Amino acid sequence: HLDRIAAVDDRVHAFLHVAADAALESAAMVDESLAAGSPPASPLAGVPLALKDVFTTIDMPTTAGSKILDGWRPPYDATVTTRLRAAGITILGKTNMDEFAMGSSTEYSAFGPTHNPWDATRVPGGSGGGSAAALAAFEAPLAIGTDTGGSIRQPAAFTGTVGAKPTYGGVSRYGLIACASSLDQGGPCARTVLDTALLHEVIAGYDPMDSTSIDQPVPAVVEAARRGADGDLSGLRVGVVRELSGEGYQAGVRASYEDALRRLEKLGAELVEVSCPHFEYGLAAYYLILPSEVSSNLARFDAMRYGLRVENGASAEDVMAATREAGFGPETKRRIILGTYALSSGYWDAYYGQAQKVRTLISRDFAAAFEQADVLVSPTAPTTAFTIGAKVDDPLAMYLNDLATIPTNLAGTAAMSVPSGLADDGLPVGLQVMAPALGEAVMYRVAAAFE
Ligand code: GLN
Repeated sequence: HLDRIAAVDDRVHAFLHVAADAALESAAMVDESLAAGSPPASPLAGVPLALKDVFTTIDMPTTAGSKILDGWRPPYDATVTTRLRAAGITILGKTNMDEFAMGSSTEYSAFGPTHNPWDATRVPGGSGGGSAAALAAFEAPLAIGTDTGGSIRQPAAFTGTVGAKPTYGGVSRYGLIACASSLDQGGPCARTVLDTALLHEVIAGYDPMDSTSIDQPVPAVVEAARRGADGDLSGLRVGVVRELSGEGYQAGVRASYEDALRRLEKLGAELVEVSCPHFEYGLAAYYLILPSEVSSNLARFDAMRYGLRVENGASAEDVMAATREAGFGPETKRRIILGTYALSSGYWDAYYGQAQKVRTLISRDFAAAFEQADVLVSPTAPTTAFTIGAKVDDPLAMYLNDLATIPTNLAGTAAMSVPSGLADDGLPVGLQVMAPALGEAVMYRVAAAFE
């Protein structure tokens, strides 16, 4: 995999940092312990992985795609990082991402865009485009992403790979640099559903270091993925969400989705149409809640504590302002300003407060839909991978790409994207499978049967 990275990553730019020596050392340690007769630390021991550069790593830089953290060395490992190491997984390096995980194309990275391995003129999706591109370019068989509004699932769809967003609280956020804390969720990415499930079980589970971590057994997703491989979904009800197809979806995506529904039926699933009337307000609510949390979370980058410090002026405030001016990119600034406005005393009830009410209505839509169906499906993204540069100056067009993924984050439920073939433009399309909170087992079963 290191050879492959050396051969193709100039063109793909999936990685921000490759830790070749550490990776070889870690792989050698696994070899040694197996040779000494010790049982492998996990089914994935010795398998290489690409880690999104938003998880802290004590032995590698961590930038979150931002200049403001350029040169920063975290003093501790994220819980996800610790669990990967404990499982004997070899971390190859850190992958490119939109700055602080805000974006849908990886073009908002301070370190240049990642190119989609299917067509280098196109984006790999975002914010976790580096992780997804590393999988699609065969630079790594496993990757880790984070999903605040779709950043695992939409890049999976754009690159023909698999990515799962676990139930909120299912994977620890300790050491995950915060974007929007009530939405952020780390999760597994791979090229097959079973690999994704194996990685899921490595990283998931209770962590006392994260106050929103769920203290419950991890859903048995590996067993579910193995069971799904028999291709029999009889007895399962698959809810087709009326509001998540049709208008606003590219014709080729719609055609692939229609085909996916027919395939699910052939596997024995019963299709039921469900309606989630408040999903249409999801995007508007998300783009108030997320910037609000971002404006608060990113206040910690004050030039005193981490990374960049621009010594420009006499007062602490001057240094802070100059550092934030130089260190944050335009999309990050846009969201800090939006969030500060939405939370301001005269307006919070009209914007932030209202958005929180919509969030509750969306959760209720999910609850009602899951009474009628075991899982819900939709296209993962409304389009296939778009051209680099096409949306970078049009934030609203960029935001629209998250239409189908955002409701899940607002509700804290689980969802994943599994490849569903190619559209008429020859580019991959993803099928989104959504499940109730802690319903990952049935989600993986359906995805494995469909794959
Ligand atoms: N594209 C969405 C955004 O820009 C989602 C980001 C994410 O999931 N991290 O906010």
